[in-house]
Amino acid sequence: MHHIAVAFGDGIGPEIMEATLYILKAAGAPLEIEEVEIGEKVYLRGEKAGIAKETWEILRNTKAFLKAPITTPQGGGFKSLNVTVRTTLGLYANIRPCVSYAPFVETKHPVMDLVIVRENEEDLYTGVEYRRTDDLYQALKFITTTGSERIIRYAFAYAEAHGRKKVTCFTKDNILKISDGEFHKVFDRISKEYPHITAEHWIVDIGAAKLADTPEAFDVLVLPNLYGDILSDVAAEIAGSVGLAGSANIGTQGAMFEAIHGSAPRRAGQDVANPSGLLLASLQMLDFLGENKIANTIENAWLKTLEEGIHTYDIFKEGKSKTKVGTKAFAEAVIKHLGQKPEILKPRPLPKSHLSFKQPEPPKETQKKLSGIDISVEWKGSLDNLLSHLKNISEHYELKMIGNRGVKVWPNPLPETTTTDEWRLRFIAKHPGLTQTSYLPLLEALSKKPLRWSHLDPLYTFDNVPGYTLSQEEQ
Ligand code: NAD
Repeated sequence: MHHIAVAFGDGIGPEIMEATLYILKAAGAPLEIEEVEIGEKVYLRGEKAGIAKETWEILRNTKAFLKAPITTPQGGGFKSLNVTVRTTLGLYANIRPCVSYAPFVETKHPVMDLVIVRENEEDLYTGVEYRRTDDLYQALKFITTTGSERIIRYAFAYAEAHGRKKVTCFTKDNILKISDGEFHKVFDRISKEYPHITAEHWIVDIGAAKLADTPEAFDVLVLPNLYGDILSDVAAEIAGSVGLAGSANIGTQGAMFEAIHGSAPRRAGQDVANPSGLLLASLQMLDFLGENKIANTIENAWLKTLEEGIHTYDIFKEGKSKTKVGTKAFAEAVIKHLGQKPEILKPRPLPKSHLSFKQPEPPKETQKKLSGIDISVEWKGSLDNLLSHLKNISEHYELKMIGNRGVKVWPNPLPETTTTDEWRLRFIAKHPGLTQTSYLPLLEALSKKPLRWSHLDPLYTFDNVPGYTLSQEEQ
């Protein structure tokens, strides 16, 4: 028996969860279910994240969490429950199979069968943001070597266990050379451990265009959080109906499984919603629990039901489908087909092995040296006036460069460059041996000028490689 937590959610949630559990029970899935309450009612009781404190204990003590969609109340500063659950429980991998079921479900891409493996904890989704000046707002993007390695290893191990042939990585490392550059480097390093799996990398913009146009060219995709979020919705949409996709959020201690769609409040209580997204998520859960055979039996019955033309309203097509059914009747049809196999549609192959891979080691220590500091200051005047305030500002540091929104504006300014009210002053030490406090006199000297510093970025080298972007003159 596997002890799991189940939340019935809001809107269509309770109906599709009942249908899913009905099928799981009929197929003999060995599950011991503990119900938890999350979502709208909990939000409205004043819990900002839509989950009560005591629920965390249950989620920590169960092996998996099967979650129906919830309704997030509008306004009022409510936090996203999904983001809270993912980050609190360390669910670092989001796995979304995107499959088309042609000719039984209408789609523009009849041979699409790909899996998106999205990093779930880092990137811009940490939500660390600042307003720095009257004009400038900033969000921080975090990429770690260990976080990248964990998700990339997961993607290759997943491909291997499921008999998939290729893993594709998308980044924007032509621009984000340090952060996305690291994700790409880790991808190249890990891919060498899987020589029998093809590894390829695309810049995310052209990769996304190719994915939308020719999804059959992809197999497993591994993506940093933001690109993964956007592209997994694109991929699910072009595969067919939003009601047909499930997703898994996997961590080292637990996992959460859900449909990708929301609570569709307008369809609630009418017995019309398609339970397939949640059902497919529950099959990912059975795989995770090692119950692959039962997952396979249910998937075969579900595919057979689609082939028989027994369809809920969202995929029903006059002339193509045969019987339009509601949520309960669809579940009953799947149960009736348990033990049967589809004739045309193919179930996912049974995993060859339980998915296993090595957790990343801490990164190797490097020689880290301070070489200078970028001090960003708020200044609404001209560049010439700013320079006049900076003349002889320090005997230990040389002003090397001034940047504005990432563009170098000094030395050699160009009159066309638009500037804003924050200027990044790059000071490089004239002598080696800087310490953590060496720049305090420089800050003190700046604070006596009519400038307000808004951000400090120490400039470190790691084994003599700069850990910061260089302007063209510095390269
Ligand atoms: P939605 O996914 O609920 O609905 C979008 C459209 O898809 C609607 O036309 C709906 O009728 C249809 N649809 C969705 N699921 C279906 C199903 N199983 N069967 C048939 N048709 C289906 O998106 P929305 O309307 O933007 O959001 C509604 C609520 O859901 C919001 O409160 C939102 O915050 C929440 N939401 C929750 C989750 C989650 O819990 N994971 C995810 C997305 C949205």
